[in-house]
Amino acid sequence: MMDIHRCFRCGYCKFPDDFSKYNCPPYARFRFESFSPGGRLWLTRAFLNGEVDFSKHLSEIIFSCTACKNCAENCRMGFKDEIVDWIVSARREILERGLAPPFVRDFLENIRKYGNPWGLPRKQRADWLRAKKYDGDDYLLFLGCECSYEDRGRSMAKNFVEILERAGVSFGILGENECCDGNEVFMLGELGLFQELAERNKKTMSELGVQKVIAISPHAYNAIKSYEGFEVFHYSQILRDLIQSGKIKPGELRKTVTYHDPCFLGRYNGIYEEPREVLNSVPGLRLVEMERNRKNSFCCGGGSGNFVFDLLRGSYSPARERVREAAETGAEIIAVACPACKAMLDDAAKDEGLKDRVAVMDLSEIILRCGIS
Ligand code: SF4
Ligand code: SF4
Repeated sequence: MMDIHRCFRCGYCKFPDDFSKYNCPPYARFRFESFSPGGRLWLTRAFLNGEVDFSKHLSEIIFSCTACKNCAENCRMGFKDEIVDWIVSARREILERGLAPPFVRDFLENIRKYGNPWGLPRKQRADWLRAKKYDGDDYLLFLGCECSYEDRGRSMAKNFVEILERAGVSFGILGENECCDGNEVFMLGELGLFQELAERNKKTMSELGVQKVIAISPHAYNAIKSYEGFEVFHYSQILRDLIQSGKIKPGELRKTVTYHDPCFLGRYNGIYEEPREVLNSVPGLRLVEMERNRKNSFCCGGGSGNFVFDLLRGSYSPARERVREAAETGAEIIAVACPACKAMLDDAAKDEGLKDRVAVMDLSEIILRCGIS
């Protein structure tokens, strides 16, 4: 943490590697230096030196970071991999002092009480999904909160379940025994609650003898990887393998498609190519790249719980900027591989009046739209 003093606010962390646009979502949204990665570090430093206390406004600045990791990718200093950890530590300190914004406290309290950030009943977690409970199957399908409770996420889960069933994959779900994976809880600095959630999920999975887990959400993928003891796959990897092994064969789709890299899949876990391989396997589909892609991707603004409380909303929100960038490619479809991205970009396409021009679709939905044999 002492290295935080070495940040000299040069600002590389705000950009992608070609400096073409602002790539830190809160900075791109508000354009105040305090909302940039370096600004946040200087605020934290001033706090450590006893020069400022975290007022409501300052704590909102610290919590507006989406943990997208663009700063870690583009800072030129040796400490770059620690930047997000420092922000998480600052949040932890703010939480411990009772200075967190109310929407962050509600988010965490709902997860503590109900196992999801919306405070919805546990029994609604999977009572809508026709999929068998895990019973020694090859894979456990872990839904995560967005795919369990949010409409766009639920449609992703339904589509993927249909593909798994048609491909004859042996899998099951935890149903109401699944509990929040804790990824956002960790990123918001509530490390104790994260440990509790991880222990609870680990216990449930171990008692059932689970060895292999498929996560639809990259956030869940990231968290479950840290649980240790399980082999974890993102659903894009499973789709790619099912196509490569010939278990499913996508039909033709004559559409131009651009792919939006989710931060917790790309920058956090290096999974850039598998989703593109899925799309490239579709006959007739033309894949075009947005200016910012792969490690330079621009976050949809949904990380760190923002998909619930959306601190960055408005005409200049990252999601709306991303949808405009996608539309500039001429794509008719924005392909996504994360339920938070799907909801954020889908809402943004509506707000931008672009919904008829660019549809936001997840990989499974695209594969089903082509028809599979
Ligand atoms: S975090 Fe790194 S790139 Fe950003 S202002 Fe500080 S030293 Fe510069
Ligand atoms: S993790 Fe992303 S949102 Fe947070 S400071 Fe870094 S670039 Fe900005």
